[in-house]
Amino acid sequence: MKVAVTIKIIEKYGRCPVCGSDKVGNGNILEVEDVSFKRTCQCGWKVTGTVDPEGNILETFNNCSELKTSMNE
Ligand SMILES: [Zn+2]
Repeated sequence: MKVAVTIKIIEKYGRCPVCGSDKVGNGNILEVEDVSFKRTCQCGWKVTGTVDPEGNILETFNNCSELKTSMNE
């Protein structure tokens, strides 16, 4: 993984869009591997994705809108 892409992922997913937490650890995970990444939050938010050779982030799973909808119900 290129450093620039890693920084992009941390900037984009470092803060939880559902509860606003930017803490990692204690159930909150931000993992960046060679061509994939994973971020989970203790509120239940989870996003996973891959990075193509050009450095574009492609989400494969993101339950953010789902969680926000259930919060407003
Ligand atoms: Zn959260």
